[in-house]
Amino acid sequence: MFKVGGMQNSADIVIIGGGCIGVSVAYHLARRKAGRVLLLEKAEFLGAESTGKCAGGIRAQFSTEINTRLSLYSIDRFERWQDEIGHPFQYRQWGYCFLLTSDELVANFRKSHAMWTRLGMNVEWLAPPQVEQRLPYVNMEGVQGATFHSRDGFGDPNDITQGYAKRAQELGAVIETGVTVTGIELEGGRKVTAVQTSRGRVATGSVVLCTGAWTRKLGGMCGVDVPIDPIRRQIIVTDKFDDIADPFPMTVDLSTTLYFHRESGGILIGMSDHTESAGFDDSFNEDFGEKMLLTAMQRAPVLENAAPKHKWAGLYEVTPDHHPVIDRLGHVQGAYVCAGFSGHGLMHAPAAGALTSELVLDGKAGSIDIRALELSRFSDPARLHDEANVI
Ligand SMILES: Cc1cc2nc3c(=O)[nH]c(=O)nc-3n(C[C@H](O)[C@H](O)[C@H](O)COP(=O)(O)OP(=O)(O)OC[C@H]3O[C@@H](n4cnc5c(N)ncnc54)[C@H](O)[C@@H]3O)c2cc1C
Repeated sequence: MFKVGGMQNSADIVIIGGGCIGVSVAYHLARRKAGRVLLLEKAEFLGAESTGKCAGGIRAQFSTEINTRLSLYSIDRFERWQDEIGHPFQYRQWGYCFLLTSDELVANFRKSHAMWTRLGMNVEWLAPPQVEQRLPYVNMEGVQGATFHSRDGFGDPNDITQGYAKRAQELGAVIETGVTVTGIELEGGRKVTAVQTSRGRVATGSVVLCTGAWTRKLGGMCGVDVPIDPIRRQIIVTDKFDDIADPFPMTVDLSTTLYFHRESGGILIGMSDHTESAGFDDSFNEDFGEKMLLTAMQRAPVLENAAPKHKWAGLYEVTPDHHPVIDRLGHVQGAYVCAGFSGHGLMHAPAAGALTSELVLDGKAGSIDIRALELSRFSDPARLHDEANVI
């Protein structure tokens, strides 16, 4: 093996993208002794894009069975993180509470609740007086009830990224940052032979696209369309704020998509702007920031006393049905994609890595049936999913 510009010039498997998904894939491949695993990240540090800008929410309360299964698998693994990974992970299982403010939401959540119970989850259904008692900071206007799952919560995205990356390196994977993949070479237009990078060519028979919001561009290098669009999402974190007593759950109002939870002594507030169109602009939109704060103060009036301290925007990596793609890259032999988690990638990182390593090494994912996540579903509207709990 030769080194080009300080970097090795061949690998058995090249993972493109060093967010939480790429490092999880690297770790899972390395622990299966998959050969020479090389991860390439264009930014100067890991987790610089969506992963580093995310809210850290980890929950199993989804409306589709496949999303719920990805979460349950991942929560199991997060709960055993210290034993498995051996690096620190700040993880608070303080629960998620979904406030239900319309007949339609109540009906949808009743359906989901039956599915969650079938999958072994213990989700509490709270009547309004119980919501009032458990979440005294909530303005109860319109609240018809709520669901609460105690195994949900939130964790530090940096701990997850660094933990997987360090463990992958301990197991022999090589991680290079500051390296942009500029092309993927194919033999006869169908078989991966190398990747071209800003630091030279790396010969390889396998690539895994873990490129989040940029995956459409990378898929295009192989002539395959992967319909993942970048959509801006914003976060505001307040200064130290004690008027809501710990521990309190991630509180979600689906009617507005407002959510908030404890963050570094303050409160992290998020909300989706449904007028956003696809694009890579991740500057903070002040007007929408105002709207987020007003909405937060309406639902939790005590937040009037909280002072905004930090604010930022980042990109969701959104597919047409808000579910990821974990699959081969169309007709291209040796190419795989694990991307498009549509705003839920951090919480699904353990499952994503495990399933992708199975797909690459065994030819088929065994831990969970992931036929629902095939790329080909986008050409058949009947196979698209309908995830109702998107925030
Ligand atoms: C505001 C906000 C809040 C969120 N909240 C949550 C939450 O509470 N819970 C949750 O689970 N998820 C949340 N998410 C979503 C979560 O952040 C993403 O789903 C997850 O980070 C996706 O990980 P990834 O590794 O696929 O993408 P990324 O972290 O974006 O990583 C992809 C990497 O690929 C690299 N790359 C791209 N092109 C190339 C190239 N040509 N060569 C080399 N490298 C390349 C990029 O630089 C990038 O680092 C949130 C996202 C945002 C923006």
